[in-house]
Amino acid sequence: MNSMRIILYGAPGAGKGTQAELLAKKFSIPHISTGDMLRSAIEQGTELGKKAKKFVESGGLVPDDVVIGIVKEVLASPKCANGFILDGFPRTTAQAEGLQKIFDELGIANIHVVSIDVNEEELVKRLLGRGRADDNEGTIRNRLKVYAESTAPVKGFYQKHGNVHDIKGVGTVEEVQKNIVDALK
Ligand code: AMP
Repeated sequence: MNSMRIILYGAPGAGKGTQAELLAKKFSIPHISTGDMLRSAIEQGTELGKKAKKFVESGGLVPDDVVIGIVKEVLASPKCANGFILDGFPRTTAQAEGLQKIFDELGIANIHVVSIDVNEEELVKRLLGRGRADDNEGTIRNRLKVYAESTAPVKGFYQKHGNVHDIKGVGTVEEVQKNIVDALK
């Protein structure tokens, strides 16, 4: 299966990062995580990192133009020529619209949107157990609120534009992975 282009959608803690890594290996495509890129920029103290720091640390969203800019640069690079998996982007309707523009410019069509669904109680449990710097209780609450308010409409955007594969995100990592791979066939 060549040229696999996937958008992984789901709440913080749904398992997008874990599943994205496995899919990236399976289909030999790059795993593009805006969260990973922002954390690494913050760690390295780059201009992007300085812009993003306060948003990431509070569990808010980094401004749309900033994230759209970094995604545009990566998607236009040769490493994404044969496919990619987007994890954690788009997170707002404006980002979804920005991404559509990038796809149009690059002549990209046939995107798979995979939505991983996990209930809120399980999400909080997972996030509290993960131990990342932005995984403290206050920040988690804010990230779930931001998800419900700003990110949930993104799913509607893709439901309107084509098919979304709905995947139940509970079970073992392998079970969820198999369900995703089956849905992509
Ligand atoms: P993640 O690793 O995807 O959970 O992202 C961690 C944090 O990075 C989020 O809480 C946001 O502050 C920021 N972030 C990641 N992706 C985006 C995005 N697409 N738009 C805005 N902020 C983002």
